[in-house]
Amino acid sequence: METRPAPRPSRRGRVLVVALASAVAGGLALGTPAVAGPPDGRGGPPAGRGGPPPVGHDLPKVAVMTGSGGAVSSVDAVASQVGIDVLAAGGNATDAAIATTAALGVTEPYSTGIGGGGFFVHYDAASGTVETIDGRETAPMSYGEDVFLDADGEPLPFRDVVGSGLSVGVPGTPATWERAAERWGTQRLSTLLKPAERLARRGFVVDATFHDQTAANAERFSLFPETADVFLPGGAPPEVGTVFRNPDLARAYRELRTRGVESLYEGRLGRAVVAEVQDPTTVAGAEVFHGRMTRADLATYEALDKEPVHSRFRGRDVYGMPVPSSGGITVAEILNLVEAYDERTGEPMSDVDDVQYLHRFSEASATAFADRNRYIGDVPGVPAEELVSQGFADERSCLFDARSTLPRPVPFGSPDGDYADCDGGSPAGVLPHEGMSTTHLSVVDRWGNAVSYTSTIEQTGGSGITVPGWGFLLNNELTDFEFEPITEGVPHPNLPGPGKRPRSSMAPTVVVGDGGLELVAGSPGGSTIITTVAQVLLGHYDRGLDVGDAIAAPRLSSRNGSSESAEPAVAGGPLGAGLTALGHRLSSTDEIGAATGIAVLGPDRYSAAAEPTRRGGGSAMVVRPE
Ligand code: GLU
Repeated sequence: METRPAPRPSRRGRVLVVALASAVAGGLALGTPAVAGPPDGRGGPPAGRGGPPPVGHDLPKVAVMTGSGGAVSSVDAVASQVGIDVLAAGGNATDAAIATTAALGVTEPYSTGIGGGGFFVHYDAASGTVETIDGRETAPMSYGEDVFLDADGEPLPFRDVVGSGLSVGVPGTPATWERAAERWGTQRLSTLLKPAERLARRGFVVDATFHDQTAANAERFSLFPETADVFLPGGAPPEVGTVFRNPDLARAYRELRTRGVESLYEGRLGRAVVAEVQDPTTVAGAEVFHGRMTRADLATYEALDKEPVHSRFRGRDVYGMPVPSSGGITVAEILNLVEAYDERTGEPMSDVDDVQYLHRFSEASATAFADRNRYIGDVPGVPAEELVSQGFADERSCLFDARSTLPRPVPFGSPDGDYADCDGGSPAGVLPHEGMSTTHLSVVDRWGNAVSYTSTIEQTGGSGITVPGWGFLLNNELTDFEFEPITEGVPHPNLPGPGKRPRSSMAPTVVVGDGGLELVAGSPGGSTIITTVAQVLLGHYDRGLDVGDAIAAPRLSSRNGSSESAEPAVAGGPLGAGLTALGHRLSSTDEIGAATGIAVLGPDRYSAAAEPTRRGGGSAMVVRPE
């Protein structure tokens, strides 16, 4: 595959939708939507009556697209198109990933944006190396272990912390964009943020997912007048088919474009964030916890370059995100355990029936979660190398029984480098809270460089606090810390601390084989991210599914709780009956995760894949469809 270095800067300044016709079979035109809204400039103004039309409102969502010239897969068609336009105009995977994520900050503002954080994994085709950026939010320096405890030492009510200044971590996303552009991009950040600014100003057409997410959060949004103004225009969630504009967010992107991300970390955007975190503006009579983020916390924030987690699976190299994410390590342990079960039973995963496949996957996931919960956090001395070693997995696999389920919770093991015996492990605690938001983006460019990037503001709608005048929501990422230890007498690695990054489950993943890049994948979904990504990889490599089918396949998520989530196609029918007979306690869940992925089919030939239905379906695109 041809590769090329990444010179910068090169000012291209392409505008959005130029490549529409080439990117989507049949071609598409911009038009005006049928439904009009209030002409107040915020939320739902009428399209076609003053002002330009919304951007790409009639782009269809295509779940799988194969072709060349580069590929983008995200949850949103307009955002994917932004990335495709960047690729078509000569940008590389990093350029496209930044532009697409910024666009997702407009169309998916409850999942990602300027006020959040994430993890960026980059594959460089020329050198074959994978490197990462840790753009996780940090706790203010004044946060101690007891920050989420009341005066009696009892944990504060989780819900109250979520919708408050106390849960807001120092945002890492703009710093991640800046660092990624600097390391691997070919275009200036100011150019890459242009489509998002335009999208926020011109608006997009509200779909059912956006409407439903707004409606589900309407009560808590209405506590914050600024949030209500932006996201509940006219006092209600925007109707499906109306145009949603966010001129304040356009102004925020413009600010980042013209003054740089310094405006957030050292300038007026940052001052606005700190003021709102320290004293959130609420409606009369409502009180929420105040946060303690300071300008110094913002000024000292850094997106960190990190070596990826590396493991081997089926003769390939699997790369993921290291601490403070538990994603890379836990996905690796699940895959290692599955390989160990093959050895132990003498029957490979590729040969077993669907019930046995899901049984093995479930047992591996529960076991890996026991270790994750015990050992992983933003602390020194996490035994990452041992946790992802095949020796540790081989030892842990000694508990496995092909005919029955391990009692839950599965104990955690000892990643101590000595794996001769069968270690029964130590009693594990079970985690109380998990979010369910976030968005994942997969990009490959025509040179074979790739980006796997998961970003978030934690819960759908984050803290619910919008920065006045700037149109973006602040995260509630600090609720990813445990409020108190989960296992009595065992030191917990994920308690809050000064400047600390909360443990994440985000698992942006890249798989490299002998011939180079093979697969890019990731998902949102709180701790189900880990099982979703592992199941997509297992579906692809062990069950013979192409990437589209591996993403569409029904999901199970076993995370060492007393029951395991299973989509209806798993929980019901013969699969559910078979798993229940082995001792699994299934809890039917409508949807697990919302993955995107790209498989490399050959030199500059890709299959981009997204969800056909979950979260309203995702959008997979290539520059030149076949
Ligand atoms: N905050 C979560 C994490 O970092 C992600 C939120 C979600 O996907 O729901 O693991």
